[in-house]
Amino acid sequence: MVKYKRILLKLSGEALASSNNTIDPSTLNKVVGIIKSVLDQGVELGIVVGGGNIFRGAALAEAGMNRVTGDHMGMLATVMNALAISDACRKNDVDVLVMSGFPIGGGVCEPMDHNKAKEALSAGKVVIFSAGTGAPCFTTDTGATLRAIEIGAEAVFKATKVDGVYTADPVKDSSATRYDTLSFDEAISKNLQIMDTSAFAMCREHNLEICVFSMLEDSNTLSNILKGEMLGTIVRN
Ligand code: UDP
Repeated sequence: MVKYKRILLKLSGEALASSNNTIDPSTLNKVVGIIKSVLDQGVELGIVVGGGNIFRGAALAEAGMNRVTGDHMGMLATVMNALAISDACRKNDVDVLVMSGFPIGGGVCEPMDHNKAKEALSAGKVVIFSAGTGAPCFTTDTGATLRAIEIGAEAVFKATKVDGVYTADPVKDSSATRYDTLSFDEAISKNLQIMDTSAFAMCREHNLEICVFSMLEDSNTLSNILKGEMLGTIVRN
């Protein structure tokens, strides 16, 4: 028995990169393996992918670019990542639909439509939501929360390099311990940098739980969490 019927996985752009490649083919294959294992458990899967491996608006603005233009580039970077994941999915016989927060023509991907997304999910397709919220000045964490609410996902799974939320940075402080669960109020008041405050506020309002976990270290982690193992930190009301 799995705990969830429909989930939203948030992958950062950096999760797809390696020291040699902006988008690393072997990492993509690993991601597809994890996607398959989620589908094999009968769980419907939406994915929001970031773009930080290619461009981030804030960094471009620091270098002198107009912030809105930089954010447009950041959102386009997420579209590239979504296309890379979708290509790897198709090569591995995983049915996939890519949607974008703003319309892109030429058959590249479909515009965001929550009804079409839900139909595709119910039919067993993975839906990859690109371009974040479709508007500048947000991040893909907020995009993930928004899409999760739109598709009626029961939880946002945020893949990070660390296996949950700790009392302090576990790299710098060996006495740091991992939280099994946290409330949104605690996460916001402790200023834990797991998600943006806007993403937290939306999750709190819509009663949407967040699971922070480490995805790539062990490819079975997400499946095991779905089976009920406590391998990350759950933030909920
Ligand atoms: N972005 C945006 N609006 C959104 C989502 C993303 O303008 O709704 C831009 C923003 O510039 C951001 C970039 O896209 O820096 C890449 O997204 P993000 O930084 O969230 O990617 P990640 O850190 O997850 O790889």
